[in-house]
Amino acid sequence: MARVGKGSVLLLDYDGTLAPFVKDRMQAYPYPGVPERLQTLSKLSDTRTVIISGRSVHDLEKLLPEASGLEIWGSHGLERKSATGEISVIPMDSQIQQGVKEGIKLCVDLAGQEQCERKPFGVALHWRGASEQEALRLKNLVEPLWLHLCERYELDIHSFDGGIELRPKARNKGTVVEEILNTTPKDAIIVYLGDDLTDEDAFKALGDRGLKVLVREQSRPTLADVQLIPPEELLQFLDQWIAAIQKRTA
Ligand SMILES: [Mg+2]
Repeated sequence: MARVGKGSVLLLDYDGTLAPFVKDRMQAYPYPGVPERLQTLSKLSDTRTVIISGRSVHDLEKLLPEASGLEIWGSHGLERKSATGEISVIPMDSQIQQGVKEGIKLCVDLAGQEQCERKPFGVALHWRGASEQEALRLKNLVEPLWLHLCERYELDIHSFDGGIELRPKARNKGTVVEEILNTTPKDAIIVYLGDDLTDEDAFKALGDRGLKVLVREQSRPTLADVQLIPPEELLQFLDQWIAAIQKRTA
């Protein structure tokens, strides 16, 4: 990674990539060692570090206050906080808001409050920690009715590790990567680290422009070029990345 430095961009998913999965989502703190490395990255010039997550920016900042100096795209790209703290949000029209409202009600009525997470722009049905049978039961209860909503409103259902989410069609991690590529020099070195199915959109958008890294213990069909097993290999990668930038800018 000797050439990393000027024009380098590191794109990072959060859950499953920088933080292990736990049953209570608001307890999903990063792996030990990750916050310090992100803090170091936020202080380096000539490099851009971006967190791209399905979580809201608000949630991410609670779990990872060290990321406050980094650029964050939350809610699958529907909101963005710049490295200097300006927040921009994609407006949701009233029709989509109505669709999401109906989606939340269906989720809560059918699966119960506990399983449903209201997000700033959508709703997630979670089954992490449930038996396979219970997970399937919850999915079969909610998904068909959400599919009806998708026919009536500009909404999509996305699968993630441990659940499904109903959200506006407008954005996903792939569109975020496209936007970032548009503002990145052609010769920049770009790496994307992600673990989940939603990161495959990002891998696809990145194509040959950068290195696509699957961060995950088990392998699975993926568009990624390489795989890292967290946390050790992830921390090693971050150290090498930081060292290469420091060397370049020294
Ligand atoms: Mg993830």
